[in-house]
Amino acid sequence: MTRAHHPGRLRISFLSLAVLFISAAPAFGDSADANQRQITKLADGVYAIQHKNLNDGTVSGNTTVIIGDREVFVVDSCFLPSSAREDIAQIRQWTSKPVAYLLNTHFHNDHNNGNRAYLDAFPSLAIIAQVETKKDMDLIQPGNIERTPKQAAATIAAWKQGKDQRGRTLSEDEKKQVQELLPVLEQREAEFKSLIYLSPTLTFTDRLDIDLGNREVQVMHLGRGNTPGDAIVYLPKEKILAAGDLLVHPIPYTYDGYPAEWAQTLGKMAQLDAEIIVPGHGPVLHGRAYLNLVIDLLNSAVEEMRARIRQIGHPGFHSLEDVKDSIDLSPFRLKFAGDDKDLQAEFDDMTVHLVKITFNEAALR
Ligand SMILES: [Zn+2]
Repeated sequence: MTRAHHPGRLRISFLSLAVLFISAAPAFGDSADANQRQITKLADGVYAIQHKNLNDGTVSGNTTVIIGDREVFVVDSCFLPSSAREDIAQIRQWTSKPVAYLLNTHFHNDHNNGNRAYLDAFPSLAIIAQVETKKDMDLIQPGNIERTPKQAAATIAAWKQGKDQRGRTLSEDEKKQVQELLPVLEQREAEFKSLIYLSPTLTFTDRLDIDLGNREVQVMHLGRGNTPGDAIVYLPKEKILAAGDLLVHPIPYTYDGYPAEWAQTLGKMAQLDAEIIVPGHGPVLHGRAYLNLVIDLLNSAVEEMRARIRQIGHPGFHSLEDVKDSIDLSPFRLKFAGDDKDLQAEFDDMTVHLVKITFNEAALR
């Protein structure tokens, strides 16, 4: 998934739900922190890898590495195969034991494009996913892999003619941004051409427990949330949890999902005795305060939507336009974004998506 759109930044995205996009204003680049690859040791033999946000606005999901006495378990294979290979080289510095299991927490390709890189490195690898995630990956990923290099090539061609991919002439500011982005996009196009889709090989419905050798790993589907098949990983002894995009910090990803069920799923997650949580994107979290804040946000959206539906009747006979102004999530803006203007803009953008998916979920009856 891409980060919420910052007004004023030219972006390229190659992800499941996004289209190539170019905007009209000059600002470019993220703050330094999000642009660094970061490794956090969570316990002996347990690490979180936060991939850098690329300077074209593309984001990549976090990877968690869990090392047991016999074998290694990896949570999510990230967006770029080249980044996955960098992670694999890092894992080999940590241990000589093989990666035996790779979990795809959900179907979005910023969490599973690197599957093939892991299989190439560890031929007896099992790729685990919840059954609905495998279905969604099999439906969506082969088309993604076919489309993205073509989209990149079309954008490169348009940019070279001073236009965006919709044929609009670029402003002078945008042309400057294009100068910086072109080499990135050309490199990306080449990498995308080499992508090979690899479907999960081992599915589960509710739960799968794996002993890696003195290391118990619990893989769970606690209900729907960000996608139909979200999986989390819990280490009961170490009290560490990898949440996938059920939890993204500092601003949730709400492009997809089922907010009412999502709040319940996160409620179950909050009952686990986790002290460290690796979100799908963003820095490692300590404690459950942020998790509880996201639950409150989702519940508020759902409650306000229900109040509106009581006024207007069956949502199937109404449109998003009829409800969206009745849902006000601005009381949460300060809690999520503080006084950071960029984050506030991301928060506001996120709420637009959240209201939409809350309405969609309510209308499905
Ligand atoms: Zn993601």
